This record gives sequence, C-alpha cells and structure tokens, in this order.
Amino acid sequence: MWSRKRLDIGWTDFAAGLLGSGLRWNREHQHQAIEQAWSTDRESLVCLSVRSGWDLFLSTLNLPPGSEVLMSALTIPDMARIVEAHGLVPVPLDLDPNTLVPTVESFERGLSERTRIVLVAHLFGTRNDLSDLIAAAHAHNLMFVEDCAQAYIGPSFRGHADSDAVLFSFGTIKTATALGGAVVQIADETIRNAMRKRQAEYAVQSRAKFAQRLVKYAALKFISLRPCYGLFVQGCRMIGRDYNAILNKSVKGFGTAAPIERFRSQPSAPLLGLLKRRIQRPPVDRIERQASLGRRIYQQLATDVPCPGGAVPEHCFWVFPLSPSDPQSLIESLRDAGFDTTQGESLCVVNTPKDRPELDPAVSRQLLERLVYLPLYPALTESACDQMAKIVQKQIREPSKTP
Ligand SMILES: *Cc1c(COP(=O)(O)O)cnc(C)c1O
Repeated sequence: MWSRKRLDIGWTDFAAGLLGSGLRWNREHQHQAIEQAWSTDRESLVCLSVRSGWDLFLSTLNLPPGSEVLMSALTIPDMARIVEAHGLVPVPLDLDPNTLVPTVESFERGLSERTRIVLVAHLFGTRNDLSDLIAAAHAHNLMFVEDCAQAYIGPSFRGHADSDAVLFSFGTIKTATALGGAVVQIADETIRNAMRKRQAEYAVQSRAKFAQRLVKYAALKFISLRPCYGLFVQGCRMIGRDYNAILNKSVKGFGTAAPIERFRSQPSAPLLGLLKRRIQRPPVDRIERQASLGRRIYQQLATDVPCPGGAVPEHCFWVFPLSPSDPQSLIESLRDAGFDTTQGESLCVVNTPKDRPELDPAVSRQLLERLVYLPLYPALTESACDQMAKIVQKQIREPSKTP
C-alpha cells in the first residue's frame, strides 16, 4: 500500500541528527551558520517552530487587547489560537477558490479600525504573487506577515521582499524537515532584535527529547515504506485500533491543545545542527520531482475534478488536495486500490467574530469539508500517479457504481 505521506528526510539526516544529539553543543555557532546559509538581504531568526516565531512576534508587538488580525481563513488551528492567547481577535479572510489566497476585496471587507496585522498563508505548495495584498495592507499601515510553511522550495524562494515578516517551517510534515525549527525573516531591525532578546530568555529544548523525536520519526518513516505500510494497516485492523487516529496523533508536534508556553523554547543545538544541514543542502531535485508528479496528476484531472489551487502557475505540490463532492467514497475507492488517502484534518477554518457574521468564509468552509489529500511524494512512480488519476476520474463520473 502507498502510504498517505512520507516524511521528507533521509536516513543519513536521521543519522546526522542522532550524532549531533551527542556531539553538538554550540548553539550560537549553528545559528550563525543557518543565517548565513539562508542568506537573503533580510536578516532572519531561527525559532523552534513557525508557531513559536508567530507567538514571539506578537509578544514583541504587544498590541492593545482587542486588536484584530486578518488571517487567511484556512490555516492550522494553532495560528489562530496563538492570536487569541495574546488577547487579539482573529478575523478570517475568505479565500479565492482559484488562488487560495484572499482577494484585495475580501481584505477590504475584513478591515476595521482595530485591524493591525494581516497574515496570509501560501497553501498546499502554491506560491501566489502577494504584491497587491501587501500594498493594500501597507496603505492602511498594517503589518503584513507571509506564512510560507507549506511553500518551501529551497533558495529560489524566500518570500515577498515587502513582507514585514516571512515564516518558513521545518516541522515534521514539511518539505526538507528537520523535525522542527523555523526560519523567520523580520524586516524591522528593532522588532527583530527585540524578538531575539526575548527568545534568548526562553529555556532550551531538551537534547534528549530531540533525540527521542529522531528515533520516533525514523520508525514512522520506516513504517511508511510501501511493504511495511500495508502490514501496519492490517496489523492495526487486527488489534482493533484506528490507524488513522494513531498516525494523526503521532505527527502533531505539540499535541492539540498545547498551552502557549510549549512554543516558548529555544531550539536545541542538535536541532539547529540538523536544520543547518537541511538548509545547506536543499533537496531541490526531490522538490522538482514532486512538483512534476503533481502537475502530471493535475493535467489528467483538472477538467473534471476540482483541484484547489491546482492552476496556480508557481506550485510545488507540497500536497495534492482534491475537493470532490463525495470525499468518503473516493477515499474508499483509492484505499481499495492501494492508495492511502486522507481528509484535511490538520487545517481549520478561522472562526468568524460574533459581531461580524457577514465575514463568514463560506468558500473556505466548503473547501475544507470536502478536502482530500492524494498521497504524493518523490518515491511514487508515474504509473502509480496515473492510476490514482484514473480512479479519481472514474469515481467522479460514475459515483453511483462505488460501494
Ligand atoms: C505547518 C504550518 C504552520 C506551523 O508550522 P510549525 O513550524 O509546525 O509551527 C503554520 N502555518 C501553516 C500554514 C502550516 O502549514
């Protein structure tokens, strides 16, 4: 069976990480090496995660309670939770179904005199030109934050030059993962230095815990190999366990309802060492292979099946989302054919403030309800991709014939 996901990290990276857990101690040295390898004209800060960087940014800005943060309506739940934990109000901006970023019109609808920040995410591997949104935000004196957690492709993309903050994640399920870590570019020197200072007061992530993570995720990677995965799924069925729940739980770095303190640690030296290794040798060939497999599937489906964001020209297909009218039976057909496919469990729709019901993000809500991810990673063969595309097309054309 083809697993839903393969962690984007090699065995030698795991080995280097474990070695580093014993040998690496100097964090300052690693920090500098990462910032050097990252090299843009804007300076960056390395954090434990994008969520840690986002929390640190908001702590540093220290906005008046009740200030509003306009956010892409689809994101991971913690990004909105962190906003609330700071006494601020997340306000959803509905997405354009073609680009998956908000339009300038929806931005203007969301504006109020309390708006202070705009946070836009590039979803699923798409990279849209945000120039108009950034210009609109700046015209209203707002900070513009660009969430690139799903859009890393190596040194050829470092976010928009005019963003006030750009967030890149190297968390477990992300491209070129270091099992944690984030690079956060902050344009304003005063804010950046204040963030650095505040972060330096955090406790350091435990080295032993990081070594445990390496071992755990090496095991997960092993399970996701094709022969093992079928056995794993069967084994879970035999003992009556829901393998979906087991997998979902295991990839959540901080648990679901993490109190905000859990984001407030400095990355350990071995995490920094692994992050440095990943950034110094970006897996550009694998990224390109995955993008080409994504385009291949998209070309076969696009006329019949809604593929959210599929038509965005700059797209690395970090994941391959579909939005079929009957997700459940599609998942079953694919599973029967040996493709483990999942629903969009890790994303959520940002809640609409009670006093502004007209901002309900209907497009994003419908998109999320139907969201299904096809398995997509460089190890998939072209013929496996074509087979998946055929199954999807058949299912869409003849929905009644499926079990
Ligand atoms: C993964 C993700 C994050 C969080 O990244 P971490 O480094 O795990 O905190 C934020 N936003 C989006 C859109 C993501 O996909």
